[in-house]
Amino acid sequence: MNAKRLDGKALAATIREGLGQRVKAHTEAGGRAPGLATVLVGDDPASHVYVRSKRRACDAAGMVNVHRELPADADQAEVLKLIEALNQDKTVDGILVQLPLPAGMDENKVLAAVDPNKDVDGFHPVNQGRLLQGQPGLRPCTPVGIMRLLQETGASLKGAHAVVVGRSNIVGKPVALMLLEQHATVTLCHSRTRDLAAEVQRADVVVAAVGVPQLIQGSWIRDGAVVIDVGINRNEEGKLVGDVEFESASARASWITPVPGGVGPMTIAMLLQNTVDNCLNGASSS
Ligand code: NDP
Repeated sequence: MNAKRLDGKALAATIREGLGQRVKAHTEAGGRAPGLATVLVGDDPASHVYVRSKRRACDAAGMVNVHRELPADADQAEVLKLIEALNQDKTVDGILVQLPLPAGMDENKVLAAVDPNKDVDGFHPVNQGRLLQGQPGLRPCTPVGIMRLLQETGASLKGAHAVVVGRSNIVGKPVALMLLEQHATVTLCHSRTRDLAAEVQRADVVVAAVGVPQLIQGSWIRDGAVVIDVGINRNEEGKLVGDVEFESASARASWITPVPGGVGPMTIAMLLQNTVDNCLNGASSS
């Protein structure tokens, strides 16, 4: 088998184009353009790059970006005050607090300060609870992007065995819940999993969200499996690689996401989608 590539870059571009058209139609009909607030605290270089690309994507879709930056030595009360002002701002439909926050700040407390109805990252405990219970709510962007990519394959998840490697609150756990919602039988692996190779070998769908370069060996992939590689890592030569050995996994899988150009672009597209949906269905102003 030679895997087909799940081209997240192309799919994300199509989704963003569609969002741009919805925004245009909405504003031409006299509606307010959806607003995304980006909050950046400190000087982490990667965070600056991520926020810049989110802001650019926002502009390209005809949305409004409200950007707020605070220095690394800002105190937590200042961040909470800024979030409260954005919660009250009627032109803001979505609030994104870029992580990681500077050392010493209580990430949970800051994320919980965001109005759950503007939590377009889907990290608020209320939205995570809604997901757990299968209720509608804002859902985290990377897992939603993964589910959208899986939909592209046309493969049925009903009864399929899905193995998720990684149990973070932002990727592993929520994607496991979304796969379960689609009636997959889900195994959630982590650093204490006794025999990772054996778990992956049984998977019809593998989602790797670990952060260890090429941890998942190609020889572990079952013939015809769908492989979603969330990892973004630099290898020893400084090249961007995923959590899966791409070449050898491609020889066995039916579909596989490349790194870069797979899950990453979908995350931004889903962030915009959450914000646009939130504005157009009025949830952020209710
Ligand atoms: P975290 O560091 O929060 O979680 C990593 C998970 O992997 C943990 O659950 C950990 O287990 C598990 N793990 C670590 N080592 C092993 C191992 N040897 N075997 C099995 N499991 C292991 O990472 P994130 O979920 O935030 O991110 C994962 C990767 O995805 C990173 O490379 C990140 O850069 C990337 N990412 C990409 C995004 C995108 O848009 N493409 C978005 C978000 C993340 P334990 O819980 O036991 O410690």
